[in-house]
Amino acid sequence: MKKILIIEDEVNIAELEKDYLEIDGFVVEIENNGNNGLSRCQDENYDLIILDLMLPGLDGFEICRRLRKYSTVPIIMVSAKTEDMDKIRGLGLGADDYMIKPFSPLEMVARVKAHIARHERLLGFRPDSGDEIEIKGLVINKASRRVLLNGQEITFASKEFDLLVFLASNPNRVLAKEQIYVHIWGEEAFGDLTTVAVHIRKIREKIEADPSNPQYLETVWGAGYRFTAG
Ligand code: CA
Repeated sequence: MKKILIIEDEVNIAELEKDYLEIDGFVVEIENNGNNGLSRCQDENYDLIILDLMLPGLDGFEICRRLRKYSTVPIIMVSAKTEDMDKIRGLGLGADDYMIKPFSPLEMVARVKAHIARHERLLGFRPDSGDEIEIKGLVINKASRRVLLNGQEITFASKEFDLLVFLASNPNRVLAKEQIYVHIWGEEAFGDLTTVAVHIRKIREKIEADPSNPQYLETVWGAGYRFTAG
């Protein structure tokens, strides 16, 4: 699992970022102070740092400058002031990206994924072929996009597979239709939320012994869906 450090003194913002990143399967830690943030970067390996500019203790400029002396970890800098972004560029600190607060958490997640992927390509990373989810006889291999149920292979359309992975990656957690829609079909996509229900029904027909009494994919009335991991 990919590990992200958020160095941010505004607790509400840090928690919001953390929630969105955790839904996408990231492990997220938060530091509220610049000095602690830098020392945590030195003690642990992160796959990406989200770095606020104005912090108690060392500021984001200084943290970025010091990190870059020894690390190529992707850094996304955030600030409430547009003019800070010009300063970041001007100083040539080596930040990979910058975002102005307030920003869309979904946009942030998209950028986080893009920067981690780019960094892995630079390092020559190859995805682990054993990247599997196994729940109650259902085995989902994300790398090969294959699904086995009690040893029998089941085929899924592309979006059905993506949806199954998203739900199974968040076991026992209620996911709202809107959240599912945005994750699978994209923030910009314009569509009908019944698309989600249609795909859920198709997945149930494939993995549930009795689709009207689902053991994996539960409907939580008025809230969304939950993948039950037992
Ligand atoms: Ca701040």
